[in-house]
Amino acid sequence: MKAFYAEEQKRHDPKAFLSSGAAKPNPEMPERVERLLAGATSAGCTVERPRNHGLGPVAAVHTPEYLDFLEHIFERWQRIEGASAEVIPNIHPIARSGSYPASAVGQAGYHMADTACPISGETWQSALWSAWSAVEAAEAVISGTPAAYALCRPPGHHAFADVAGGFCFINNSAVAAQVLRKQAARVAILDVDLHHGNGTQGIFYARPDVLTVSLHADPVRFYPFFWGHADERGEGPGLGYNFNLPLPRKSADATFLEALVVAFQRIRAFSPDALVVALGLDAFEGDPFGGLSVTTPGFSRIGEAIAKLGLPTVIVQEGGYLCDELGDNLTAFLTGFGGKER
Ligand SMILES: [Zn+2]
Repeated sequence: MKAFYAEEQKRHDPKAFLSSGAAKPNPEMPERVERLLAGATSAGCTVERPRNHGLGPVAAVHTPEYLDFLEHIFERWQRIEGASAEVIPNIHPIARSGSYPASAVGQAGYHMADTACPISGETWQSALWSAWSAVEAAEAVISGTPAAYALCRPPGHHAFADVAGGFCFINNSAVAAQVLRKQAARVAILDVDLHHGNGTQGIFYARPDVLTVSLHADPVRFYPFFWGHADERGEGPGLGYNFNLPLPRKSADATFLEALVVAFQRIRAFSPDALVVALGLDAFEGDPFGGLSVTTPGFSRIGEAIAKLGLPTVIVQEGGYLCDELGDNLTAFLTGFGGKER
């Protein structure tokens, strides 16, 4: 399978992270890339560098105001006397119906959902190349490749049209889906990350042309808390085109695979022309987040099951954090998926 990744994606190296109010090392470490590259290579992927696709495909799902913020906020932040080395918000609007602030501190609160996505001088370029890996994979699929893998890091599925959050800045899965829309009338996004793909849901919430389906640990007691519940079904013309399958904590392979069957029923009923898999590997039993208990062979079965949908597929890397099996889990998924000579 073709895979895409650029070295620039590794430069973003966030330090700050708050977990239940306590300062911890940020889990979205550059070393994830090494493990994932090894995993993709073991699965037989040839990893290629994406081209520079410019701002067009990114601006197709994000607002100009937000992209301008992402590109320039670090430089502006450094001009604030006594400011932190990374951009971290310390104030958020209760509702976003008020004025758009002119100050860097105000804009950080406006555009950043939490403290898990600090912005350094490298973040913008890393996030752009991550998105371009997704664009390249989508273009490969449009050109007739049955499936392609984008090693997207930083990840993307918690990023809304104008809000970063949960280690995510540019929504790579949404970017890939929008690129596929050039050729495909209907695109389905299947998010199998441990966490609900709230940003992806938000971007397509009012649209009937992109179906968003997410399996994840029940947000009633898990990040992202405010989204990912079963009653969120879309709005306006998008009503019925968002489908959430929250799973009990520590659910293992059998429960996950059963939920996947339900997800497939919805996807088949939608009759999409192409599929984006938002591939988080943090549903793994040994992942530091410990929310679900999928095993390494489980990822292989998940990959195999998704391949049976028989759709042109872009696989976009989302979460999955440092543990000995991170690379093996990617190998398992891709090998399972590629079982039918894809
Ligand atoms: Zn996740």
